[in-house]
Amino acid sequence: MFSSIAELAVHTDRTGEWPVRQFEALNRAGILAWGIPENFQGESTPATEIARFYLDCSASCLTTAFVLSQRNAAVSRLVAARNNPLAESLLPRLARGEIFATVGISHLSTSRQHLQRSSVTLLETDSGYRLDGVVPWVTGVHHADLLVTGGTLPDGRQLLLALDATTPGLERGSAAEMLALNASDTGHLQLRNVYVPHEAALTEPSNSVMKSGGGGTGSLTTSTIALGVAGRAVHALEHEACSRTELQSESNKLREEWEAMVEELLIAEEQSPTMEILTTQTLRARANSLVLRAAQAYLTATKGAGFIAGHLAERTLREAMFFLVWSCPQPVAQAALRQFACTPSWT
Ligand SMILES: Cc1cc2nc3c(=O)[nH]c(=O)nc-3n(C[C@H](O)[C@H](O)[C@H](O)COP(=O)(O)OP(=O)(O)OC[C@H]3O[C@@H](n4cnc5c(N)ncnc54)[C@H](O)[C@@H]3O)c2cc1C
Repeated sequence: MFSSIAELAVHTDRTGEWPVRQFEALNRAGILAWGIPENFQGESTPATEIARFYLDCSASCLTTAFVLSQRNAAVSRLVAARNNPLAESLLPRLARGEIFATVGISHLSTSRQHLQRSSVTLLETDSGYRLDGVVPWVTGVHHADLLVTGGTLPDGRQLLLALDATTPGLERGSAAEMLALNASDTGHLQLRNVYVPHEAALTEPSNSVMKSGGGGTGSLTTSTIALGVAGRAVHALEHEACSRTELQSESNKLREEWEAMVEELLIAEEQSPTMEILTTQTLRARANSLVLRAAQAYLTATKGAGFIAGHLAERTLREAMFFLVWSCPQPVAQAALRQFACTPSWT
């Protein structure tokens, strides 16, 4: 499956078309049922198996792995909500790949945090909530049947909700043109007096709604996806190094670092329910560092040929940049800045 996904990735990156064939392949392989309880037609899958899948998938096609991760973030919020009527109506259809769900939650964690006004405001009515504002980032914005999003009540508490994408007042913005991942159909969503019934709430109102329910900012999955792209670069560099002794020492070092990090990550996946946030963020900062260095090493080795649009080195480098901005909590961004500002050694 991964070799055909890798072949499709070239077309996906060039055209910016939604990865429909990749998702058909994932559905055929039963992967869309992972993480959904068996009583809702899902399949319980060990965390390490899911991590190995993400490593291979993002090495083959970052767009596919990333879009799936956003869809799975929505699924895990639905599962965590223990809202049975909602779960019964949505989870079996998600497990069968009949509907697509996504998240628009960054305005509650990593986006627009410096602004005084919350991006999405909520007003409670007798039977539900009225939503107003902008959800700044939604991957799969034109493909979503369901959106997990949230907003802020007048007293500052936040709430997550499952929003049907056909709800009146909801307007999907056009997809942004980006450095990479244009096929991910990422854009904003405008909400004008959108009504959502109480039954669609996924959480109680709280001051830290993003701290529960899994799949949070800078989660282990984001590190796994970064390591998958790093693995692609390391593998391709090794291929270049086969016949070029001057590349072999650095290629070997990057391989060793990558293997050690994958091992750490798989151990972390087994321990994830008890894992400290600091450890998770440290792993993400290190994964970010590795993917950026490995992608640059690969471009350096492929020279001008690798700089031409369509070369794997060019795509890998553009994709590596994504991890600097996606689901990147402040300590992780700060670690990257420290690394960029360090004094290099020339010897
Ligand atoms: C391809 C892609 C897909 C994504 N998909 C999703 C998705 O499906 N769901 C989701 O929830 N999120 C998604 N995100 C959002 C992502 O996780 C981050 O939240 C987002 O990249 C943060 O960037 P921002 O521009 O919104 O940040 P902001 O913090 O809003 O920064 C915007 C600008 O404000 C200025 N600024 C920032 N901080 C300060 C400050 N402290 N003081 C003064 N000025 C400041 C800077 O000039 C900056 O350029 C996606 C992002 C990308 C790039």
